[in-house]
Amino acid sequence: MTQEIFREEPYRTEAEATVQSCDAGGIVLDRTIFYPKGGGQAGDAGMIVRADGSTVAIADTVKAPSPLGRRHRHMRFHTATHLLCAIVPHQTNGCSITAQYARLDFDMVEPLEREHLERELARLVDEAHDVRTVWITDAELDAKPDLVRTMSVKPPRGLGRVRLLEIDGVDLQPCGGTHVANTREIGKLRVAKIEKKSARSRRVVLEFVE
Ligand SMILES: [Zn+2]
Repeated sequence: MTQEIFREEPYRTEAEATVQSCDAGGIVLDRTIFYPKGGGQAGDAGMIVRADGSTVAIADTVKAPSPLGRRHRHMRFHTATHLLCAIVPHQTNGCSITAQYARLDFDMVEPLEREHLERELARLVDEAHDVRTVWITDAELDAKPDLVRTMSVKPPRGLGRVRLLEIDGVDLQPCGGTHVANTREIGKLRVAKIEKKSARSRRVVLEFVE
């Protein structure tokens, strides 16, 4: 957690601080006078002066997302793509999940309707379905052909056992990713884009309503 000097001393224009981390996402300080974007107020701009006197211009300030914050967004989006698979009864041929959006490509020629997708996603989120991991052996799969038939993606064979992701009453498919425990945790989604990627492919991009 960065110490927020600006809360106690909003007129302060200089402070010493230590760089905690620095990457393409930005610079994280242990203490700061920079106000981070929030509550309708823009983030501060300014300058960091290094120990050797050289300077780094700061164009904007945002709250550092916690590692779990970022991961939790991935988990929410990832689980949302399972819901989308359950709503759109076609095979997928591409998927990308970031902290900002989830993108899923469906192997299909029919048009998709934004209002329908948003309504169904909202319903499945509101219905608060439990999400759980189920391990199943090849022998169990062979004994339950109906199970495979209901899966939106066919499980790989010959590994001995397969990890399935089950969204209670909604979706069942092999998946090794990270998911939230209940669909309610996904929160409100919007369909940011529906694209005809090719003659046989439809792309859907989901974002959170924040
Ligand atoms: Zn998954």
